[in-house]
Amino acid sequence: MDVAMRAGAAAAGPVASGPAAATGRSTAARRPRVGVVKLASCDGCQLTILDVEDHLLEIAERFEIVEFAEATSRRSSGPFDVLLVEGSISTPEQAVEIARLRAEAKLLVTIGACATAGGIQALRTAAEHEAFRAAVYPVPAYVDSLATARPVSEFVHVDAELRGCPISPEQLVELLVSLTTGRRPQLPDQAVCLECKRRGIPCVVVARGLPCLGPVTRTGCGAICPAFGRGCYGCFGPRESANTSGLADAFISGAAAGSGDGAMGAAGTGDLGRDPIDVGRLFAGFNGATPPMRSVTDRLGGRPIMSLRPTLASPPETLLEGPPRWGTAHVVTSQAPDSTTEDPDGPRR
Ligand code: SF4
Ligand code: SF4
Repeated sequence: MDVAMRAGAAAAGPVASGPAAATGRSTAARRPRVGVVKLASCDGCQLTILDVEDHLLEIAERFEIVEFAEATSRRSSGPFDVLLVEGSISTPEQAVEIARLRAEAKLLVTIGACATAGGIQALRTAAEHEAFRAAVYPVPAYVDSLATARPVSEFVHVDAELRGCPISPEQLVELLVSLTTGRRPQLPDQAVCLECKRRGIPCVVVARGLPCLGPVTRTGCGAICPAFGRGCYGCFGPRESANTSGLADAFISGAAAGSGDGAMGAAGTGDLGRDPIDVGRLFAGFNGATPPMRSVTDRLGGRPIMSLRPTLASPPETLLEGPPRWGTAHVVTSQAPDSTTEDPDGPRR
């Protein structure tokens, strides 16, 4: 399932239960209990929830937000009527935690590319985990991470998914409204190209010769990158039946090279294609671990390789015998200016 509600969740009916039928003792309306939690993520999708300013009061009136560490220090361990989960499963603890959260949630909704597809951190899934750790952390032994960063749906049942990096505020509101009425959310599966046409945005492939993942990417962003003269990065992930292989071949052959200053191929001639490894790199982004995107990078290459940062492969001697001393290990002491030397430009303010 992609963004639509899974069959089981749709059949469960509205989460807004109205009279507290569960006890039969009260006719007072009960607001659905909502939790927002994070796993391995940057918090950007949670910030999007706080960004839906026009609807925030309405959401707070309709839902009782009992857990949202990004927004409040009031904490609850559940149970939840709706649990919004941000982030991928990247550590052994998170693999255990998601099972506990699933048991406490009536409906579990994953939000954002990290939770639905593994996110940018999933690039390590098809690479040498140890090489990644050694390249990024001075002392890899201190980092207890899984060799893969995987979407939540690979560990527990997920009732609905919101794509995007970050998610769309409009799609979030649509999902919440649909939950209160028990209907399927109306979440589009059209290509970003349709959004360009609707908004009258000139195609960057045709007009500027830039590569663009819009033809294979689900809409939801409002074609924001093409609107600013850049190609789509595929934040919302591949749409149903996306022909990623065909688009990649078109970029390589030059069939989708276009013309203009940024034209692929030599010096903007627009009649040559792009290097296969550059094309593969286009598909190794936020949703690069999804099968349609990954099939291209598996074929063409383009994933980051650890030789990019060889100098960090060996931990500095000073860090080998204890925990990282952040802020002290790499301090560069600058020479104090010689106050006796006269500044030819006069005194500085
Ligand atoms: S999907 Fe993007 S914005 Fe959301 S948590 Fe992951 S990296 Fe951050
Ligand atoms: S700019 Fe990209 S998304 Fe927009 S029409 Fe062209 S190929 Fe499609």
